[in-house]
Amino acid sequence: MTEIFRGSFTQQEPIPEAGIEAALKVMRGGRLHRYNTSPDEVGETALLEQEFAATVGATYCLAVASGGYAMATALRAVGVQPGDLVLSNAFTLAPVPGAIAAVGAKPVFVGVTEDLTIDLDDLRAKVGQARVLLLSHMRGHICDMDALMEICDGAGIKVIEDCAHTMGAAWNGVPSGRHGIAGCYSCQTYKHVNSGEGGFLVTDDVEVAARAVMLSGSYMLYERHLAAPPKEAFETIRYETPNISGRMDNLRAAILRPQVADLATQCARWNERYLRLEAGLRGTPGLRVIERPEAETIVGSSIQVLLLDWAPSDVQAVVARCAARGVELKWFGGAEPVGFTSRYDSWRYAETPRMPASDRVLAGILDMRVPLTFSLEDCDLIARIIRAEVGAVYQEQSTAAE
Ligand SMILES: *Cc1c(COP(=O)(O)O)cnc(C)c1O
Repeated sequence: MTEIFRGSFTQQEPIPEAGIEAALKVMRGGRLHRYNTSPDEVGETALLEQEFAATVGATYCLAVASGGYAMATALRAVGVQPGDLVLSNAFTLAPVPGAIAAVGAKPVFVGVTEDLTIDLDDLRAKVGQARVLLLSHMRGHICDMDALMEICDGAGIKVIEDCAHTMGAAWNGVPSGRHGIAGCYSCQTYKHVNSGEGGFLVTDDVEVAARAVMLSGSYMLYERHLAAPPKEAFETIRYETPNISGRMDNLRAAILRPQVADLATQCARWNERYLRLEAGLRGTPGLRVIERPEAETIVGSSIQVLLLDWAPSDVQAVVARCAARGVELKWFGGAEPVGFTSRYDSWRYAETPRMPASDRVLAGILDMRVPLTFSLEDCDLIARIIRAEVGAVYQEQSTAAE
């Protein structure tokens, strides 16, 4: 009997009841705007910022409209100007180069290794070109952050971390987002907490924090924050900083607070599923699992494997055969971007020379979401299906080669 998986790769869990209750309360009160608070009331957004700052051990936290907005705001707040070059990953998601373009700057793409992290040799070769690195921990893969920070500190490069896939993860015990000058997170439905849309910016830098608060559209109401700098920090910044509205609202904050409180539990559940998938896939001929370094605390909300140096038609065959059995794999090697799988050469507003070593890796990446609605048995089944279909195509390949 051919096994078929019938679950959905895009179905997240419901919002926790506590979040639904809190959201109803906000709606009944009618005070959804973060600064629309009655005397003595502390808004949900301000509380959420305080709680998220504590979760990652940051001094300051600003909740905003999206992860993309958090990144563009961080770039502005550290002083990126139109026309500047900003280093970033060749392997990432479209909102990352998009945030660089949003401030009028131009991305300089740095290659990806077979571990799916930023290529530190390529970074070393390019540090002279820019003063800021927007580092994307794409699909949760964290590079050697100690080595990266040494390179960047040595070259006077400010690092902004894109932690859309690493909320709850860490390197050598330091939470992701806490290595550089600022960390940016997404609260979009497919990330680790879900308010539909939303984001966070964290930093310990008082000026970056004050600028970000002004940029987000705080008018002169920054004293209503609980995780922003004291009012003295705004003395000149409040006159110099444009209001580029992108605030979080109390409704989303209400939905998010119980999820932030529960983050560690959810991360552990993701990792149970990830490890089951990884165990089921390991040792499949022709397929490589990504070995995760000991220093990395992962959050396995998605899994990637490599079919390195396979013919594109064979990778395509695997994707099609898995899809026919209900397993949705995304491929980063297709000629045309589909769904979420655009790559550096799809972003033609940032024309860049070809990167052959990265192309080789991208052409082999298969990517799969791991929603928490999957049971551990679902993970075993999915792994069996991928293993069988990769095996079947691999077998034909080697027979044809004989
Ligand atoms: C989702 C995502 C973002 C941005 O998040 P939005 O909240 O959708 O703007 C940034 N980087 C990566 C790698 C992402 O996957």
